[in-house]
Amino acid sequence: SLGLVLDNIHARYDGQTRYAIEGLTLTLAPGACLAVVGPSGAGKSTLLNVLTGALSPAQGTLSTSDGEDVARMYPGDWQAALGWVGQSTSLLSASLADNLRLANVDASDQTLEAALNEVGLLEWASSLPQGLSTRLGEQGQPVSGGQARRIALARAFVRQAPLILLDEPTASLDQDSERHVMAALSRLKASHTLIILTHRLDLLQLADQVLVLDNGHMRALDTPNNLAGTP
Ligand code: ADP
Ligand code: ADP
Repeated sequence: SLGLVLDNIHARYDGQTRYAIEGLTLTLAPGACLAVVGPSGAGKSTLLNVLTGALSPAQGTLSTSDGEDVARMYPGDWQAALGWVGQSTSLLSASLADNLRLANVDASDQTLEAALNEVGLLEWASSLPQGLSTRLGEQGQPVSGGQARRIALARAFVRQAPLILLDEPTASLDQDSERHVMAALSRLKASHTLIILTHRLDLLQLADQVLVLDNGHMRALDTPNNLAGTP
């Protein structure tokens, strides 16, 4: 597992004078689960952009728990360390197993099946995404958001990146998908370092630490229970 150290991170977008994130310092131990919350505009997506390398900090350093400065790593090495589960997933018109294989061409059939099983989609392994939604009762619809999210999560299991970033993994899911996603997240947590952007209280309970961002600043960093007890 791999952790992260953020030291006095300042980040801003081109042409802006204001920092979207200002002076963020925190340590994420290997295997820890951090939830990031805050109102719209607080800097949550900007933090993701800094972590993925899409936005270079104007000031401050991002390093791994091994003491490697991410700015000095080969981009490919950093990309390999990171898994990204976004809100949308592009799927090919190929079986679910083949869609998963794209995340790791070296994965064995067994690994692919185990990953599909984690998200409750094993019985659909050889189905096309379209066929999947039809068989689950959504005649003629493209794969539903919930199923797409479950496949994105399954990719995280297959990629074997030690550090996984998740953007609102339970947003607008049907109940069945939500149940599977929550179960898969707790299993992912057992073997990975997780950073989860979320608005959801039940997801916060999964976190060891909750980072509350407000206007680009760290408003609080504490356990979910301590935060819930704070007025
Ligand atoms: P959140 O994800 O918490 O809603 P963001 O990280 O998107 O917040 O936004 C933080 C701040 O950065 C906001 O003031 C927002 O207006 C600004 N911002 C976000 N994206 C851009 C961008 N591409 N260009 C300029 N400013 C941006
Ligand atoms: P988006 O358009 O939301 O960026 P893509 O369609 O490009 O999403 O696919 C991103 C998907 O690829 C993720 O949802 C995830 O399933 C998988 N993925 C996981 N980790 C990575 C990574 N480090 N780089 C690229 N894709 C990743």
